[in-house]
Amino acid sequence: MRETMQIVIVGHVDHGKSTLVGRLLADTGVLGEGKLEKVQATCRRQGKQFEYAFLLDALEAEQDQGITIDAARVFFRTDERDYIIIDAPGHIEFLKNMVTGAARAEAAVLLIDAKEGVRENSRRHGYLLSMLGIRQVAVVVNKMDLVDYDREVFDRIVGEYRAFLEEVGIRPHCFIPISAREGDLVAGPSAAMPWYDGPDVLAAVDAFGKAPSRGQLPLRMPVQDVYKWNARGDDRRIVAGRVEAGRLRVGDRVLFSPSNKTSTIASLEAFAGQPPAEVEAGTSAGVTLTEQIYVERGEIMSHLREGPEVGTRLRANVFWLGKLPLEPGRSYKLKLGTSQTEVRLEEIVRVLDASELGTSVTKKRVDRHDVADLVLRTRTPVAFDPTERIEATGRFVIVDGYDIAGGGIVRALVPDEHQQLRLESRIRDIEWVRGDVGHEQRARMLGHPASLVMVTGEAGVGKAAVARALERRLCEEGVHAYLLDGKNVVLGVDADIALDDREGLVRRFGEVAHLFLDAGLVVVSTTNVIGLGDHRTLRTLVSPFPMLVVHLGPEGAAEDEEADLRLDPGGEPAVAVDQIVRALAERSRLRSH
Ligand code: GDP
Repeated sequence: MRETMQIVIVGHVDHGKSTLVGRLLADTGVLGEGKLEKVQATCRRQGKQFEYAFLLDALEAEQDQGITIDAARVFFRTDERDYIIIDAPGHIEFLKNMVTGAARAEAAVLLIDAKEGVRENSRRHGYLLSMLGIRQVAVVVNKMDLVDYDREVFDRIVGEYRAFLEEVGIRPHCFIPISAREGDLVAGPSAAMPWYDGPDVLAAVDAFGKAPSRGQLPLRMPVQDVYKWNARGDDRRIVAGRVEAGRLRVGDRVLFSPSNKTSTIASLEAFAGQPPAEVEAGTSAGVTLTEQIYVERGEIMSHLREGPEVGTRLRANVFWLGKLPLEPGRSYKLKLGTSQTEVRLEEIVRVLDASELGTSVTKKRVDRHDVADLVLRTRTPVAFDPTERIEATGRFVIVDGYDIAGGGIVRALVPDEHQQLRLESRIRDIEWVRGDVGHEQRARMLGHPASLVMVTGEAGVGKAAVARALERRLCEEGVHAYLLDGKNVVLGVDADIALDDREGLVRRFGEVAHLFLDAGLVVVSTTNVIGLGDHRTLRTLVSPFPMLVVHLGPEGAAEDEEADLRLDPGGEPAVAVDQIVRALAERSRLRSH
């Protein structure tokens, strides 16, 4: 099958985009017999000068009659491959399509008028390409005939524009002096510019690299659903989703992110007919696992050591469509793959107004039709890939209330304060030596899954009393609960480290709690020793085990927001315990799973 590549041609109005496209059509012979001559004859008849741009209008007219070519997606072909030209760059529709994934330009031809030189718009276009993540760019300096094919003019523009593009992170593959109207260096050499020895436009686009096909990328399957097997006594589950990248076989060891759970593919399931031996990108799949682990919709399944990024801060480019602006202080929903996570705008790096194409670094919010380079922060860690690496798990939409208010691409992970720990615990979980009794089996034996309950609050609010009463109550009800006082970890495990090594204390406490959780217990603790606010670190360390943060403190306090449950301070421990037990049951962490 012939390869197809989508390219976009951008440039200031009148710099010659349509002429170049018309030329490409004419010179590569996709127009069809006699088309060029027909348009030229029409021009003569109407007494107007022929323009290559008219060829586009002619194609559009054909399309109106329901024939062949879509004007916004003009095709031309070389010996190498077929090209689709995505039109109307800088146009809102184009930007919207690019950031939401409806259109995907893999490369760009950027046009500059030799006579006019680098204009403000030329800079904006360069910036736009950078925002859209298009890294393959050829710069074409057009209308060289108007400057007598002068090498100096060309060199000056190259010098100026190369420096600018470098600033926005684009290193063009080449600069080509052309005359679209006269046909110099579009699809062949130019007698007028013997001093140039680089490629013509066609050779330049043919030299663009093709992104690897999705099947060759690392495996990514966002989990859509988990189905229970219907037969009695069969505790197997089918994990279903669409393989967005890579391929999947029975026996593959897999990692689920962000939970870090691991297992092995036991079988590939088919809803009808023979199960396939392998599933490749672009296909929906159902798999069963050798070890029954509890995974949920939203996780991304990958191979063990080729997992996606996991974190809470995303450097992203967003195109905003919402009626209300995207602004700090409000919360939105980030939908990426099959996951949905609460997200906030943390920082605006730069905003580009799509209708005017003016940049602003000082804006405090992102308005409708702005394209913004920004940092988003999610409430809980999400799994994703930079779009440049894997497209399907690098695109997202932002929902404001019930409306899709924006779309975007992830450029990179921005480390948060837990990044190092998160990496450490991922390696720990991948390398963890497991006994033959899995978590699920242990939970069935004990009658409940493992869980961590952290009671937080200022000194004197009665945390310890609540924690004690909770351990007692849980044990009376047959739950394997254990009160892990931070002090006990300090006395023993921490005996060799300084008491002001807070990071060390928190990490060791978390690892001890993680061992008890791995043993299947409900661990109850307070944060007296390691201090308030460390529960975020703990969450990272004990993940994927669930953690319930119970905060004893007045309503509306800052810590309140982080807590899963807030209780009035100084109350009867028994009342608090009732509420906690109810919360645990509601989250089905106690009896059912
Ligand atoms: P667009 O707005 O970027 O699509 O520009 P057009 O392709 O419509 O071109 C604008 C004008 O520049 C037209 O009058 C073209 O004939 C003219 N033009 C385009 N390319 C060349 C060129 O290489 N040399 C000269 N002299 N004029 C050109």
